Amino acid sequence: MSATCQNLIGGALIDAASNQFTPVYNPSRGEIIAQAPESGIEGVEQAVRAAQGALPAWAETPVVERARVMLRFANLLEENFEALARLITREHGKTIDEARGDVRRGIEMVEMACGAPSILMGQTLDNIARGIDGKVERHPVGVCAGITPFNFPAMVPLWMFPIAIVCGNTFILKPSPKVPLTPLRLGELLSKAGLPDGVFNIVHGGAGTVDALLKHPEVAAISFVGSTPVAKYIYETGTARGKRVQAAGGAKNFMLIMPDADYDAATSQITGAAFGCSGQRCMAGSVALAVGKAADPMIERLKHAAGSMRVGPTDEGASSDMGPVIDPAALDRIESYIKLGLQEGATLTTDGRDIDPTEPSNGFFVGPTIFDRVTDGMRIACEEIFGPVLSVMRMEDLDSAIAEANRSPYGNGAVIFTRDGGAARAFARHVNCGMIGINVGVPAPMAVFPFTGWNQSFFGDLHIQGNEGFQFYTRNKVTLSRWNDPGKRVLGW
Ligand code: NAD
Repeated sequence: MSATCQNLIGGALIDAASNQFTPVYNPSRGEIIAQAPESGIEGVEQAVRAAQGALPAWAETPVVERARVMLRFANLLEENFEALARLITREHGKTIDEARGDVRRGIEMVEMACGAPSILMGQTLDNIARGIDGKVERHPVGVCAGITPFNFPAMVPLWMFPIAIVCGNTFILKPSPKVPLTPLRLGELLSKAGLPDGVFNIVHGGAGTVDALLKHPEVAAISFVGSTPVAKYIYETGTARGKRVQAAGGAKNFMLIMPDADYDAATSQITGAAFGCSGQRCMAGSVALAVGKAADPMIERLKHAAGSMRVGPTDEGASSDMGPVIDPAALDRIESYIKLGLQEGATLTTDGRDIDPTEPSNGFFVGPTIFDRVTDGMRIACEEIFGPVLSVMRMEDLDSAIAEANRSPYGNGAVIFTRDGGAARAFARHVNCGMIGINVGVPAPMAVFPFTGWNQSFFGDLHIQGNEGFQFYTRNKVTLSRWNDPGKRVLGW
């Protein structure tokens, strides 16, 4: 029997009252290593009570003290950096280098949280009317909840709770039930950093537990990252109940290669974007738009690069270039998209179903896959596959390639490879999405910038990360005060 994950409530690890569980795999081996309970209404009620109980004292704690907890947390994350990366590799399957990136990007969010005393400073304007001074200051919003996907077990939770907490809120994390172990370890480290009990809580579960959070009247704000249908549902249900919601969804990201591009550099960037993390990234590059004479040389190079990637287990020090996908259902979905591409008439130039893993294992493997001659309207060119499948479309010119990218309902990232500044500028200005790469394959912004998904990739007004993150977790209060000067002085004149 595999270990059942406990909830973290009010500083204590406690069992959820549940008879429903999600298996947690080691995807490199196909073995179940733990299970996550469905905590439901009861688990959420316990977590909200703990978060509410801790709120008044935490909101009153001076921001410099709150930031100091984050500083200690950042140090503990550094001390535990390798162990965290190994844990991610074990429960998620990404390579150790990719797992290190997951932790590093998360730590950058905690470092940003340490700057809260400056970032949260308000504004004042004295004598805004005769004898009246005005100031605006930022207050916490209350109990916040975060609902996270499986693909970044450390980074995505860390996108949310360090900023929420340093702003004086208390927090309930509902991590993906597919990767609950890393978030639990983050919770332990946060307690060790001196965070008071109840400020950060974890409840495990899936849709039932999310619904309990969405309906709870004491949850003031919800941050969500996951697929588009769920993001839309969370946004609509949460805002209808008066909650603040930021909900980041899925994506289909286009990479445009101009005939004048550096083909070798573009190949390396596109290979990383399409096949890194086995294609399980919301910023994964999944469609290459090869303009004019770029198509043949790029296909040759991409085939060669994909063919030389070693796919296999990533745990226990294994040195594969690409790991498994998260679970058997993901493997089925990706393989069914490969069959669909063939039915739709695209040319399969590299078939990831043929791979021979680097060592024998029951892991969930599908290798890099490339379709050439993908045409407008094919489902493999429009739908998020969330696996290592790259579609190549041959385009006549820059305008038709931009128009193709703009047909997507999503709006996370788009990338151009070119040596022509004018083409890069036109692309960046006219492509209809929120994160642009110019000779950069995965233009995922660092912590200080907002993660600016557009269209069906984001629902809400304030994005995760950067200053928008701080705005999301605070509300402004304006105070006007009138103090009449008894002496009727006119100072300084
Ligand atoms: P998912 O939508 O299946 O799950 C995300 C979270 O929602 C999980 O915590 C899950 O338990 C919960 N959930 C699932 N179904 C639900 C339902 N019906 N009602 C309420 N809650 C539900 O996503 P996933 O498979 O874990 O992650 C992959 C998706 O996340 C991809 O679409 C990817 O593009 C997206 N993603 C987006 C970003 C971004 O910043 N835009 C970042 C990472 C991942």
